[in-house]
Amino acid sequence: MASWIDPDFPRTATPSDLVGRVLGLNPGMMTGPGTNTYLIGRRDPILIDTGIGVDGYLPLLERYLGERGWARPARVLLTHRHVDHLGGVAHLRERFPGLPVAKMLHRDTNLPDGIEDVREGQTIEGDEVTLEPIHTPGHASDHLCYYLREEKALFTGDVVLSGSTTVIPSGDGDLGDYLSSLRRLQRLDLERIYPAHGPVIEDAQGRLAEYIEHRLMRERQILDALDAGVDTIPAMVKRIYVDVSEKLHPVAAQSVESHLKKLAREGRATEEIVRDAPSRWRLA
Ligand SMILES: [Zn+2]
Repeated sequence: MASWIDPDFPRTATPSDLVGRVLGLNPGMMTGPGTNTYLIGRRDPILIDTGIGVDGYLPLLERYLGERGWARPARVLLTHRHVDHLGGVAHLRERFPGLPVAKMLHRDTNLPDGIEDVREGQTIEGDEVTLEPIHTPGHASDHLCYYLREEKALFTGDVVLSGSTTVIPSGDGDLGDYLSSLRRLQRLDLERIYPAHGPVIEDAQGRLAEYIEHRLMRERQILDALDAGVDTIPAMVKRIYVDVSEKLHPVAAQSVESHLKKLAREGRATEEIVRDAPSRWRLA
């Protein structure tokens, strides 16, 4: 996993004529090199995501805006409510008064004030660019990807990452929804992916197929574990995630739980709740 947190990942980049990228400067185990924020359009760029709100981000963004001859972002679109995507909103609004900020308003608690709603079915016009929001729950119930028509490209937020798989958090995450979201994205006329973490993905369809196959492989491993009588989440994590750092086992446990919940919903596994101990799972 060390390469996922790439210290040499460029802080700013211009991956295409219509897309600029400024790094959120929040590297870590969950964020890789940090959260990517994207500036889209020929002028008056639309900013997708804002990073977590570290002090160095705004000067970096302003330097990049200056290099492109831009004064400010026209507006902000958020992919979802996680703090490494919207934590920078306050700093941006302070620096650029009146800056509109929008996300899909859905089961939110603790959002900054004055965030506007945006949903699938709308289109957002920028300068020579058109973005279409696509509701893609699974990692987060409010998650939007944004399809850039002019490039057949998709800003995937945390639905597809570069260099890691997506976490399905217990609570707001849902593996069944996640797989449905990936399958919907497969039906887009899609060439390139701009993920919220890591470099541009040129083989969009290949990556979507890999992501689905990865989950199906994990599901098979979990069914095998259940079949072998391995019946608790901690025991399954130990058995399945042998090649993953133990530091990530708590995250892996959330992933196993999301698989088991999906299997239970499909009538393929049952949960026996045990007092003061992990639940016992069985094949149905
Ligand atoms: Zn997220």
